[in-house]
Amino acid sequence: MQPFDYLIPGDHAEASALLAAGNGRVRPFMGGTDLLIRTRGGFVRPQAVVDLKGLPGMKEIRPGDDGWLIIGAACTMNQVAMHPLVQARYDLLVQACNSVASYQLRNRATIGGNCCNASPAADTAPALYCLEAVAEIYGPQGIRRIPIAQFFVGPGKTALRSGEFLTSLHLPPSPQDARGVFNKLGRTKMGDISVVSVAVYRRSGRLADPTAPATGEWRIALGAVGPTPLRAAEAEAALMQDTSPAGIRVAAALAAAAARPIDDIRASAAYRRAMVAVLARRGIEAVLADLSAARAQLPAAGGAS
Ligand SMILES: Cc1cc2nc3c(=O)[nH]c(=O)nc-3n(C[C@H](O)[C@H](O)[C@H](O)COP(=O)(O)OP(=O)(O)OC[C@H]3O[C@@H](n4cnc5c(N)ncnc54)[C@H](O)[C@@H]3O)c2cc1C
Repeated sequence: MQPFDYLIPGDHAEASALLAAGNGRVRPFMGGTDLLIRTRGGFVRPQAVVDLKGLPGMKEIRPGDDGWLIIGAACTMNQVAMHPLVQARYDLLVQACNSVASYQLRNRATIGGNCCNASPAADTAPALYCLEAVAEIYGPQGIRRIPIAQFFVGPGKTALRSGEFLTSLHLPPSPQDARGVFNKLGRTKMGDISVVSVAVYRRSGRLADPTAPATGEWRIALGAVGPTPLRAAEAEAALMQDTSPAGIRVAAALAAAAARPIDDIRASAAYRRAMVAVLARRGIEAVLADLSAARAQLPAAGGAS
């Protein structure tokens, strides 16, 4: 591997200045599970890497205002998946983090690195799209925040500008009755990049809102079937009207129609599209089954305790 300098910035401003001065040849470094492999393969040739992990807040998971949860960009997959605040409300993200590679790799790979690598197959992305996460970015102009769906711009491309880096992901409150399922299809059962992935998330909707659909608010996001992860808006809208078996089939077909897959060495576009429908249907059915199991646990209204 071509040698490069390893830099540890003292604070956010120094990190930003180092990145800006490097003009693309100085790269942010977190777990290195993508960057080192790409460097070894000669796909990138950094003169230096800037290790962002030690900056304040980068490895923290903490409650924000108004029920939000803030996850530092340098939190590893295992750290996120094992954190009680994540487990309590964001099981969809727990499943996504746990689906990445192996336990050993998840001790190193960070959630921020997964987003900044900007692979359409990044496994945390569909969950973050469903949860409508907000990306916090630090740069020469200070801090800015953008929805995660605007952070992914194209394969390997993010909305980050010169001197900017991702500091954290902010998750909006997720109600107690929210349910999510992440289904991933790789070439092997464990440790492989997704050929297709589908996240399905359902929440009760804003209960105070009289226009909230009786079926709840549904969100579906797709991975590895477009230049960026995608939301399947028409499938979501269909589920808000009808969650009968026929409605589920319609929604699954609409999710497949939303996919924009390509043929590549891992799968054909046609196979990917067909698998979106299968994984979406399974995800919706699993969410509904989980909801009815939860409802069955509730004590009957007015019944004996
Ligand atoms: C064997 C193996 C299996 C894998 N399996 C999976 C899998 O199943 N699912 C999956 O989604 N991924 C998988 N990956 C890919 C990789 O592990 C993940 O994308 C991981 O989350 C990357 O995080 P990292 O901290 O290692 O990022 P790094 O390698 O440190 O960085 C990734 C990229 O993002 C940039 N970057 C990092 N942090 C920031 C920041 N804060 N601001 C701006 N830019 C930044 C870096 O410069 C680099 O270009 C696998 C990788 C390997 C080697």
